Amino acid sequence: MANPRIHLSSPHMGGDELALVQDAFATNWIAPLGPHVDKFEQEFAELVGGRIVDEGGLTSDVGHLSSVKLHAAALSSGTAALHLAMRWLKLEPGDEVICSSLTFSASVNPILYERATPVFVDCDKQTWNMDPAILAEAIAARLKAGRKPRAVILVHLYGQSADLDPIVALCAQHEIPLIEDAAEALGATYKGRAPGSFGLCGIHSFNGNKIITTSGGGMLTSADPKLIEKARFWATQARDPAPHYQHSEVGFNYRLSNVLAAIGRGQLRVLEDRVAARRRNCAFYQTAFADLPGIAFMPEADYGRCTRWLTCLTIDPREAGVDREQVRLSLGEKNIEARPVWKPMHLQPIFRECPNYGGAVGERLFADGLCLPSGSNLTMSDLERVVEAVRDVFKRR
Ligand SMILES: *Cc1c(COP(=O)(O)O)cnc(C)c1O
Repeated sequence: MANPRIHLSSPHMGGDELALVQDAFATNWIAPLGPHVDKFEQEFAELVGGRIVDEGGLTSDVGHLSSVKLHAAALSSGTAALHLAMRWLKLEPGDEVICSSLTFSASVNPILYERATPVFVDCDKQTWNMDPAILAEAIAARLKAGRKPRAVILVHLYGQSADLDPIVALCAQHEIPLIEDAAEALGATYKGRAPGSFGLCGIHSFNGNKIITTSGGGMLTSADPKLIEKARFWATQARDPAPHYQHSEVGFNYRLSNVLAAIGRGQLRVLEDRVAARRRNCAFYQTAFADLPGIAFMPEADYGRCTRWLTCLTIDPREAGVDREQVRLSLGEKNIEARPVWKPMHLQPIFRECPNYGGAVGERLFADGLCLPSGSNLTMSDLERVVEAVRDVFKRR
């Protein structure tokens, strides 16, 4: 095949996954739950709660370098983790939950599962993540309307942590629980610690396109052991302690299987390699496009390490002479998968009626933003093919 497909982000197994899965088979722990699930939870909690020293020493601020003791529940998806976080809040119909607008719909849908209403907040140009000033404005406006937000869902987008300090402070000041959607940010840091370890709880994803994968899966983390214990209870059909089947609450079937947890444990061991490879991809594209007009990469904030889960850039059509869609379609013709940046939630038909604050920045990023192939398993010739395909579009201007 002359032109095999180059994917946006595909699974990349390390060396240990198969042996760990074989162990699950050999011991017949094929059922959900089992020793790999327990170990995956422990190892994950230690990693996300631990202190992380960036290779590049990216920050001189060591304010957050102490570790936190986290607990973790392995679940069938990141969406399930966020749903259980919403359950923990005991939302009532009509309650409001603030959420980043520029994100994937899975950050928002669990609010609807619990019959609450999302309120959207725009991102800023420097980080592409929630703008703390607009969050402050949104909280003030909702308080004035007599509708105190029940939580803030903060998304850490495309491998980059949001600016946590001002957001944590705002939530603390107003006593609003902070829930971190770190599905795209495993391996990232904020002042020496992992996003997902700062709020009431963090949600993580091992979907097939994420930086590490179990084919499908997720994790809920929290410093509160009661929250995690309750999440495990709900996730295993809410079975009361009794010899027979007895239930006093609604349950869900949300647990991760022992087989998939074995894959996850193998993947955790190569996480640092995966971060390094994705950052290398981004650096390669940055060098290769340095002379092209109108291209700007997602900026990397100086408070931590961005994993460059996806390499994202914007194309200013006036400067570039070509627009994002021309580039994306042209890559598609060459069997190269590239995608527009997320369409903001406040523009989605299903969320049309929801309150929204700001929006211009996310709308601009959606109009001009492109995500390039970013997998940690891309070869040099894959990367060169992508570069050539992009440069071709600019040549034809
Ligand atoms: C992938 C993703 C999720 C959902 O995770 P799943 O494991 O696929 O359910 C949630 N939020 C964001 C920002 C994501 O990218």
